[in-house]
Amino acid sequence: MPHALTLNAGSSSLKFGFFELGDLQGEPQSRILGLVERIGQGERAHIKAKGADGQVLLDQEYGRNHVPDHGTALARVVDFLREQRPDARLAAVGHRVVHGGPDYAEPTRLTPPVMDRLAQFEPLAPLHQPHNLSGARAALELFPDAIQVACFDTAFHRHHPWVNDTFAIPRKFYDQGVRRYGFHGLSYQYISETLEKTAPHLHSGRTIVAHLGNGASMCALMGGRSVASSMGFSALDGLPMGSRCGQLDPGVLLYMLMNEGMTPKEIEDVLYRQSGLLGLSGLSNDMRTLEAAGTEPAREAIDYFVFRIRRELGALAAALGGVSTLVFCGGIGENSAHIREKVCEGMGWIGMELDTGRNLRGERIISTDLSRVRILVIPTNEEIVIARAARDSLAGAG
Ligand code: ADP
Repeated sequence: MPHALTLNAGSSSLKFGFFELGDLQGEPQSRILGLVERIGQGERAHIKAKGADGQVLLDQEYGRNHVPDHGTALARVVDFLREQRPDARLAAVGHRVVHGGPDYAEPTRLTPPVMDRLAQFEPLAPLHQPHNLSGARAALELFPDAIQVACFDTAFHRHHPWVNDTFAIPRKFYDQGVRRYGFHGLSYQYISETLEKTAPHLHSGRTIVAHLGNGASMCALMGGRSVASSMGFSALDGLPMGSRCGQLDPGVLLYMLMNEGMTPKEIEDVLYRQSGLLGLSGLSNDMRTLEAAGTEPAREAIDYFVFRIRRELGALAAALGGVSTLVFCGGIGENSAHIREKVCEGMGWIGMELDTGRNLRGERIISTDLSRVRILVIPTNEEIVIARAARDSLAGAG
């Protein structure tokens, strides 16, 4: 039976999934899911993996500098998978690649020219794209006979109407690819497909999805298709994130450049790594830490995060001409009843009424029965979207 490996590389992490693909017709079956954390950084990397039943298969810390890069992390993952499943026939590897630029609106087979093209988008997603591609390079070497397919976070948004695809700067920049791309597309695709299967009446309506994780964005779906996103050209725009700034007046960049004499690299570091929840709280990029801290700057960081979500909610509802469903997902969206409550507070004017009991219990539907807008919590699953693309690519090659 063919198997697929899914890889999702962050700046210092590598998520992986091992799937059985069966006869390539049905849903890929997840058998192992895992995560390598603290890659590089001179720290002790950590790997954890669970089986389909949630049983922990591996939970191990490595020595300092034993996992210096994503290639080594992948080699460790492969050693573990070979030990667990010596029978495995890895026929396909699916990669999450954050930026597909203007060219790629569908999952795409990785070939040397495609890899070269994708490397050109590294400056647009410096926290992710270089790691996505180094993972892909390592996998191409380790599994030369497997089909390797890239799944792009931008692809789901590639059919936005013109007004949501452009900035008001001279047109030559648009032609060069300076556009509003939008990200977290694999997550939004999962939510859209899940709604289609489980609540088709909601899927056909106007939906706003709030993907609130370490990276955070929001997306407006009309009949299941993305029509607007809070993220733009890079993964910096829109909502504030763990350590990214979110929407920023470009005048601030000019100020940093011209008045502070900062170099572009220094500015990149501030905007991607020192801003957002971390920058405002001076404490942490992690929502759990901020919620537990209870200090004034931590509270203010949370207030700003919530305020920008509420603002975006209004903007996306206007882009859609109304809203019938709000979905929360991502680590914060799925787990923090407190943030969900603050986002929905006083939103009766737009037809949202939260049921605080359902919200606290973490139920799937957290709106009241009378709420005009359905409010849902749906755990997202980017891995299955990648595994489906790997299956389809393999079936197409068959
Ligand atoms: P990534 O974008 O790296 O995939 P996740 O979707 O895993 O991130 O989300 C990570 C964020 O979710 C962190 O800020 C973390 O603190 C937050 N989070 C996870 N569980 C909880 C919880 N129970 N309450 C509040 N925040 C949580």
